[in-house]
Amino acid sequence: MGDESHSAKRIAKKNSLLALVRIGEVIQVEAEKLRIAMLSVHSSPMGELGTKDTGGMSVYVRELAKELGNRGHRVDIYTRLNGSRQKQISQLNDKVRLIHLRAGENGQMNKLALYGHLDDFFKELEKFRTRDSLHYDLVHSHYWLSGRVGKWAQESWAVPHVFMFHTVGAVKNSTVGSEKEPELRTVTEKHLARSCDRILVATDKEREHLVQHYGASPQTIGVVPCGVNLDLFSPGDRALARQELGFAQDESIILFVGRFAPLKGIDRLMEAMCHLQHHQRLRLIIVGGDGSDTPEFQGLQKLARNFGIQEDVTFVGRIEQDNLPAYYSAANVLVVPSYYESFGLVALEALASGTPVVATKVGAMESIIKEGATGHVVSNGSPRLLAKGIEKFISGSNGLSARELRGSVLQFSWANVASAMIDQYAAVLREWDFHTCCCGKVSML
Ligand code: UDP
Repeated sequence: MGDESHSAKRIAKKNSLLALVRIGEVIQVEAEKLRIAMLSVHSSPMGELGTKDTGGMSVYVRELAKELGNRGHRVDIYTRLNGSRQKQISQLNDKVRLIHLRAGENGQMNKLALYGHLDDFFKELEKFRTRDSLHYDLVHSHYWLSGRVGKWAQESWAVPHVFMFHTVGAVKNSTVGSEKEPELRTVTEKHLARSCDRILVATDKEREHLVQHYGASPQTIGVVPCGVNLDLFSPGDRALARQELGFAQDESIILFVGRFAPLKGIDRLMEAMCHLQHHQRLRLIIVGGDGSDTPEFQGLQKLARNFGIQEDVTFVGRIEQDNLPAYYSAANVLVVPSYYESFGLVALEALASGTPVVATKVGAMESIIKEGATGHVVSNGSPRLLAKGIEKFISGSNGLSARELRGSVLQFSWANVASAMIDQYAAVLREWDFHTCCCGKVSML
């Protein structure tokens, strides 16, 4: 759409808004098909899941965008080109494009170094946008680095900015076992928390964190839980899955799935294994990581040796998400031993696959897990308590069938996430237009 028709449309939208506001009706922005610019600068939604910087956020951006596209909304996701063989534009579905922009060095970049190239990223975005005369109704950015770019887009395109933190730097800094986040991040996040038109979080706990640590106004924060692909993750036959994966039929399998970050708490899961040594034939399967030549992998191997459990632990490396269902089916229990999570998608994936979850009290665990029935949330993350929780789910049945476990998370479909998101977009657009109209009126007086 060209410049003139775009501004004509916005003016018409504002005029109709004024008329509707006068007679006290509510604008139905929902009915309109939106054009959304989504920003995921440092991590591609099509990146390698389970590696250092690519996990739940990438899944979130990809699944949400696709679902919005299925409903007729146009979504352009902008991310940084980090490989020479990537096409500039790839189509994720009819309405959703992934657009790679050049900024900084070729290949992987450290997040702090990338911060210095965010202005290049925005310049490239503007070049791309003006070349194709693209206009958006709103910008939705993910993670603090993208949030910075989102602010520039908000200012120069005069559209609302919706922002998601995914993880909160100040909370990470107050968490034991976490790598410390730089002040640049917490200062940028504080600014975003106070200046975005709408902030979306996945749990009430995260909302409290933003109010407490950054002074965000609760009214600007919407809560939308994350989702799970219910078609991909569904109960499978345990014996068959073990046969396919080459796992023993007579072992109790404890599964971990995730990135190899200190916050994930693999260390305390290994320690918990030590408290379970009276169990014969116990195996910990660890999925994820950047490969056997990385310090993270070698550190975990060493830890397993130190605990004397190296024979009971199998590292299978990162697994394409399409192949993960067999791992969930093969396991007796998924363990989420994290020190911090903003949500914890793997717990939803396990439950949707009919596998119970034992977790520390992080992210959305308390709302996803039905205590004692579909899993167990340990009151504190001590390895001993973790082991006790795991024990309940490896020695015998928890009484629920795989179908019942799956039934407990059916509300977490991506379709429901998209519906809630569209409501949030509608609300922010109403507020934005109202604000713009009122300001216009005031300045005319
Ligand atoms: N994942 C994957 N392959 C792996 C490891 C992880 O596909 O080898 C996916 C997993 O299915 C989940 C996501 O990565 O969807 C991790 O999300 P989660 O919210 O659990 O953790 P985060 O990465 O956000 O900390």
